[in-house]
Amino acid sequence: MAIPAYRPPEDPGLWETFLERLERTLRVAHVHPTTVEYLAHPKRLVTVSLPVVMDDGKVRVFQGFRVVHDIARGPAKGGVRLHPSVTLGQTAGLAAWMTLKAAVYDLPFGGAAGGVAVNPRLLSGRELERVVRRYTAELVNLIGPDIDILGPDVGTDQRIMAWIMDTYSMNVGRTVPGVVTGKPHALGGTAGRDDAAGYGVALVLWELARRQGLPLAGARVAVQGFGQVGGAFALHAERLGLKVVAVSTGRGAMYQEEGLPVRELLAHYEATGELPRYDLPPEELFALPVDYLVLAALEAALDGERAAGVRARAVLEAANFGLTPEAEAYLLGKGVLVVPDLLTGGGGLIASYLEWVQDLNMFFWSEEEVRQSLARSVAKAVAEVSAKAEALSADLRTGALALALERLNEATRLRGVYP
Ligand code: NAD
Repeated sequence: MAIPAYRPPEDPGLWETFLERLERTLRVAHVHPTTVEYLAHPKRLVTVSLPVVMDDGKVRVFQGFRVVHDIARGPAKGGVRLHPSVTLGQTAGLAAWMTLKAAVYDLPFGGAAGGVAVNPRLLSGRELERVVRRYTAELVNLIGPDIDILGPDVGTDQRIMAWIMDTYSMNVGRTVPGVVTGKPHALGGTAGRDDAAGYGVALVLWELARRQGLPLAGARVAVQGFGQVGGAFALHAERLGLKVVAVSTGRGAMYQEEGLPVRELLAHYEATGELPRYDLPPEELFALPVDYLVLAALEAALDGERAAGVRARAVLEAANFGLTPEAEAYLLGKGVLVVPDLLTGGGGLIASYLEWVQDLNMFFWSEEEVRQSLARSVAKAVAEVSAKAEALSADLRTGALALALERLNEATRLRGVYP
């Protein structure tokens, strides 16, 4: 990276990937050097140590992180990840990606991300609750509905978002639903949030298929990752008339040529965390003969080597940073449509925005209204990213990045540099 930039103390991970993509996009997008300076340095990086009393009475200290990357376009917004791989560098990269995603979708948010390096499956319910509440308490002066809004990510669910909202509210002395999105409906969560991330992926697929003349009815789709995003996407894909022939978890893939019974699989996965059977090793899912391959697990799932086996006509990156740059270059060279995370993964963020707006006003909409608004946002983003890519004679990722950077450039210019 030629431009001066922040360097995390260890594991640059996704932050380095962000910098590489930023630098590459600067060749085609018009961005002032001041904006680049801002974007190359996260606004705030916080590391917290979380002492937690375990069920056996011993104290264990966990590492937590929260990064606010940029707030030019609005208060920071970003997920909370509970996973053993969480580091400061990964969190900074995810925060920067949120800045860009909010700009692609023209939402009035800056970007943030956070998490705790922990495997939630190895904790009891009480231990997990203590970890989450202590994490929230350590950040209480740095978060809030107009400062930094937390949302779900890998390893977090509605129950966890409720604990965060309650801990924050207890500390500030009033009930503040807007500090968190992805909450249960009873606490100010929006209708339609549960499956919004997966629904958004299905809407992006539908919009692009329509624009680019790709098949829909009966088209075959394989989904890597069967969690909150992958599971909900599979259900909506089926509703659109696609045939979901394969899904996977970290343990393996389930494959059925005539199509899988998605609803039954979801019920089984929700009850057990497993698929009913594993027909293939997980990585063999990438090479199945399908029309669409959806990446809904973790970052860098599809690398250059695995990309060589891909037979799909389009790859949709629902997981942030799901493809490595080598994989993407290879697929684009083969004429495969690569739909980037900044576009594919907007559903959760739009629903979070809609939830936040409702919480600020204490006025709630029907599921129908939320879904219509979400569909309008996706259609607008697909059209704008496609137009930008066409104008630059570039791929969709370059189009999305250029659009985001130009919007951020405008906001940064208008605000000026304080003081
Ligand atoms: P999740 O924890 O609910 O699900 C992840 C799934 O991936 C699980 O089924 C897991 O078994 C599977 N998986 C893990 N490793 C795998 C492997 N090697 N091969 C196949 N499957 C594997 O997480 P999620 O919330 O669905 O998030 C998935 C991705 O989408 C993440 O990258 C996340 O950052 C992104 N995302 C999530 C949201 C959201 O609202 N939940 C919003 C935007 C983006």
